[in-house]
Amino acid sequence: MRRYDVVVVGGGPAGLAAAVAARAGGRRSVAVVERDDALGGILNQCVHNGFGLVTFGEELTGPEYAARFADAAREAGVEVLLGSMVLDVSAGPEGPGVTCVSAERGVERLAAGAVVLATGCRERPAGALGVPGFRPAGVYTAGCAQRMVNCEGLLPGREVVILGSGDIGLIMARRLTLEGAHVACVAELMPYSSGLKRNVVQCLDDFGIPLLLSHTVTRVEGRWRVEAVEVSRVDGAGRPVPGTGVRYPCDTLLLSVGLLPENELSRAAGVELSPATRGPVVDDSLMTSVPGIFACGNVLHVHDLVDYVSQEAARAGECAGAWADGARGSGRTVPVTAGAGVRSVVPQRVDVARMPDELVVRLRVNGVYERRALVARAGGEVVARRRRDILVPGEMEQVTLRREALLGLGGVDAITIGLEA
Ligand SMILES: Cc1cc2nc3c(=O)[nH]c(=O)nc-3n(C[C@H](O)[C@H](O)[C@H](O)COP(=O)(O)OP(=O)(O)OC[C@H]3O[C@@H](n4cnc5c(N)ncnc54)[C@H](O)[C@@H]3O)c2cc1C
Repeated sequence: MRRYDVVVVGGGPAGLAAAVAARAGGRRSVAVVERDDALGGILNQCVHNGFGLVTFGEELTGPEYAARFADAAREAGVEVLLGSMVLDVSAGPEGPGVTCVSAERGVERLAAGAVVLATGCRERPAGALGVPGFRPAGVYTAGCAQRMVNCEGLLPGREVVILGSGDIGLIMARRLTLEGAHVACVAELMPYSSGLKRNVVQCLDDFGIPLLLSHTVTRVEGRWRVEAVEVSRVDGAGRPVPGTGVRYPCDTLLLSVGLLPENELSRAAGVELSPATRGPVVDDSLMTSVPGIFACGNVLHVHDLVDYVSQEAARAGECAGAWADGARGSGRTVPVTAGAGVRSVVPQRVDVARMPDELVVRLRVNGVYERRALVARAGGEVVARRRRDILVPGEMEQVTLRREALLGLGGVDAITIGLEA
């Protein structure tokens, strides 16, 4: 059995940033275990630009952004195990470890001082939607179509309707248009887009592709191949309004209806999951409820910008390394909860004595709000406040908690973050 200070599961942007930070300039032994035969994760299929503005101050494509982190990991001396699928993560009395399988080495157990979960997310599939009709060819998730077009040189179809306005669907509307397909419309159930505003403008408005808000697909026609879909208006409760259906002849239906953290390994390891994020519940060090197992990136909560994934993952790697060295917190954490208008917060627990001077809490709101303040309160006192002109569920927000402000209260039992006037 091989032993490392830190084993990172997943070689996407989160896993790579965590591994570089955990390596701490060569002080610790670190391995990244990746099931694919290349590093970079989902970014390898995101050939459009717009990555890295926050991290590098320049516009990179997904593969360029991923390559910078893959190079940094190799230069730092991180050991990379490609083509290795992690089957199990556990934390027994002898410490955490992972079981993985590869064609080269068969099944092996890697022991670790700490494990970082960075397995990303998956797309919500067609089966989760319950749209009436047969299950003909021509229905793809937007990410599957992205891989076909960008990695395999295949066009999924020529006349396309997209259901859901998540970022991947918006980006694919533009990509398919540039490849010569016609995108008839993007139908979105909610009265607002679930993607970033910049993607709505650059991927739909600039190409004259209509965004039908408060609409959904109510029928898929075609026995063997999609022939048409019916798109109907929905009422305030999301129910289709009878008689509003419009038929769009098409050969392809793309689904961009949400991403779900990939938590099979976490669940099997006994990690507590949050119903709001569907990822692990973590403390300020990004450690899960199982001591020695950390999480970051899209497996923790779905991000909209990879730059924030890298920032968060670096902290997870740093803290996992410190845990492997024997560092422990004060043993007392207080809950951080979602208040009015807020759907989810990460981290959900904070060790005030151990937290850094400034701790970024990332969150999503549960509706569209204008001119509100994101306010963090502890014991009724305001400890952080951030004014926003517009807040939408599709854009991740953040609030910075200052350790000094929390310590100054002389004892904190809970922190709540909510929207106020
Ligand atoms: C289809 C799609 C398109 C996207 N497009 C954009 C975009 O255009 N712009 C943007 O900013 N963000 C985009 N995102 C969001 C993007 O996923 C994140 O910004 C970022 O890639 C998340 O990094 P990650 O490392 O957490 O996950 P990922 O990049 O998904 O990496 C996870 C890695 O873990 C590996 N893995 C999973 N399970 C195992 C296992 N059991 N054993 C070994 N390895 C495992 C996977 O193979 C993968 O390499 C997109 C996401 C998806 C799903």
